[in-house]
Amino acid sequence: MKFAIFGDIHANLEALQTVLADAEAQECTHYVCIGDIVGYNANPGECLRIVRDLGCPVVRGNHDEEAAGDTQLEGLNHLARHALEWTRHQLTQEERDWLLANKLVRQVRDFTIVHATLDTPGNWGYVTNKFDAMASFSYQFTQLCFYGHTHVPRIYVKGESVELHPDTEVHLQLGKKYFINVGSVGQPRDGDWRAAYTIYDVEHQHVRLHRLEYDLATTQRKIVEAGLPERLADRLSVGQ
Ligand code: ZN
Repeated sequence: MKFAIFGDIHANLEALQTVLADAEAQECTHYVCIGDIVGYNANPGECLRIVRDLGCPVVRGNHDEEAAGDTQLEGLNHLARHALEWTRHQLTQEERDWLLANKLVRQVRDFTIVHATLDTPGNWGYVTNKFDAMASFSYQFTQLCFYGHTHVPRIYVKGESVELHPDTEVHLQLGKKYFINVGSVGQPRDGDWRAAYTIYDVEHQHVRLHRLEYDLATTQRKIVEAGLPERLADRLSVGQ
């Protein structure tokens, strides 16, 4: 049993297709989405329908929630707001309802999934250091929890305050708790432009981060053609 765990797709169709093709090639048997299917890039409807058709567990991200709502977009930066207003018009009411119906936290088999944090999942805080991770660990009742939101892949281990950078296979040890950021499919922010997702191999008890080149030029062209801010296209090249 191998789980492909992916999220922060942000309407990047080329990156999503590349990730799912790779997951299939890696013989993943199950899929799990940790949210933010839409926002920022130019193919929200296409990405939503692909994820939905997988029929896999999905949790709601902050961009999913904002795209589904019709309230004033406050407290977001200019780029995110512009893209979300545009995204709202690209989705049907039924698709927006589906986004909003996804839960904030879910347990899948023996692990937990959440978009942002476990301590206050609806507040959309960011886990960027071991202290933030400790707050989530207080509410983590499974050995593993996978999350996203920062777009920076990372592993926090409870009891050791050690940060492991998952560019290689990480063996999971019994008795330890892990809070694992699976990276971003469609808008990485760790300085590496390639699409990211993580495979959890249940039988061998390890996780591995995968990075994949995709057709970036097409994604960038679509962003510009849609009339979205060019900075959204530019940032994809540098992984920020
Ligand atoms: Zn995101």
